[in-house]
Amino acid sequence: MSTIVFSGQEQDILIKRKPNLRAKRLSLRVSAQDNAFVLTVPPRTTDSHIKAFLVRCTPWIEKNLKKMFHVKHLVPGEDILLHGAPFQCILDPLRRKPMLCITTQTLRLPPRCSQSALHDFLKKMAIEKLTPYVVKASQTLGQHLEQVRFRDTKSRWGSCSAQKTISLNWRLILAPADVAQYVCIHEAVHLLHMNHSKAFWKTVEELCPAYRDHKKWLKAHGFSLMRV
Ligand SMILES: [Zn+2]
Repeated sequence: MSTIVFSGQEQDILIKRKPNLRAKRLSLRVSAQDNAFVLTVPPRTTDSHIKAFLVRCTPWIEKNLKKMFHVKHLVPGEDILLHGAPFQCILDPLRRKPMLCITTQTLRLPPRCSQSALHDFLKKMAIEKLTPYVVKASQTLGQHLEQVRFRDTKSRWGSCSAQKTISLNWRLILAPADVAQYVCIHEAVHLLHMNHSKAFWKTVEELCPAYRDHKKWLKAHGFSLMRV
């Protein structure tokens, strides 16, 4: 996986190496399922070769980026699911920032609410709701956790670095609570196993027995979370 910045936005590119030694060409495509760009490369392709190829493809990537992720704006009257609970968006002229009202199940939006103000609000909510899942799972596993960060990448739900920092996509706040929790557990298990080995999945299952359903949910619906 490689992260590149296009149009001021981080974009992940999945790099797949071809097993066929005689393969010569690099090819780039959009994968709707992964909601990502997938670059297939022959074996033994150097990083600088990959980089140069991606630079040449920049106009194509920019064009397809616009096609792929056209943003949906929230409008008053519309419903939104936040951490699995439905809220109705309503216009509140007295507000300067979005606010959640639990008793009335409403998300109050100020007039002319910008997309970035809405994203800041959702990110804050994600930090509040999802961080405890990661902390709890790392404690259960007896693993040191350095930091939890929240990012906005269009193709990845989470990652775990060798420095024990877990990054999560704040858009998980738009997924059902148990799906978001699964991703937190998945990344926390990487503190113990830095791979997707059998031992890794066994530990995930111990902490999250229904993980297969959550994986399926993300595969089928994850794409729609990227549109808000
Ligand atoms: Zn993983």
